[in-house]
Amino acid sequence: MPRFHVQEDLLVDYASGALPAPVSLLVASHLTFCPRCREEVGEFEAVGGLMLEEINPIAMAADALEQALDGLVDDDVETHQGSAPPTAAKHAAKHADSGALPAPLVEVMRGGMDAISWTRRARGVEEANLITDDARYSASLMRIQPGVSIPNHTHTGAELTLVLRGGFSDAGGHYGAGDVCHADTDISHAPTADPGEACLCLVVADGPVKLTGLVGRMLNPFLKL
Ligand SMILES: [Zn+2]
Repeated sequence: MPRFHVQEDLLVDYASGALPAPVSLLVASHLTFCPRCREEVGEFEAVGGLMLEEINPIAMAADALEQALDGLVDDDVETHQGSAPPTAAKHAAKHADSGALPAPLVEVMRGGMDAISWTRRARGVEEANLITDDARYSASLMRIQPGVSIPNHTHTGAELTLVLRGGFSDAGGHYGAGDVCHADTDISHAPTADPGEACLCLVVADGPVKLTGLVGRMLNPFLKL
């Protein structure tokens, strides 16, 4: 179970489908590691379904709430048996193998790790862009060699880092597989990858895509040298 989670407001937006693709990818990937956040998202999805019923009065009968609640129960029964599992089961099933990458991420990678083309950003630090066509956020993979340490720095925008393999430490603690590190302009940190195994992370940064090369370097916890 991860110790560092996705913020609740992001889980709410994820449940309602309101997140931009790069942020949604990071949340979906965290969910494959995290039963606690899966449960929360499942609850938000159920509440969201009820709210949709309530804002559609034309279609509502006098016993609409009762029907909606019946519907929820029915859905639960169906989804546990049928082809459309609820969020919790769906994400749990996608991460059965502890060494595997999260299924939502593998879908975006199209071809897996072998198809990734890495760009060297610093000694022992490589990056591969995954999503660059979003207006505001970029998503990339970062690979940091064991024991590589990055000088202290701050951020010029918000950034979320999900550890996929290995781990790193900074002043906030130790981040292992499944943990999410939140960084913004107020945070100054000097992450160091764990010894022994390269640290693989999914990084979602808030910045204009046109400037990914430059801004990405300034934003990333491992790149502002
Ligand atoms: Zn979580």
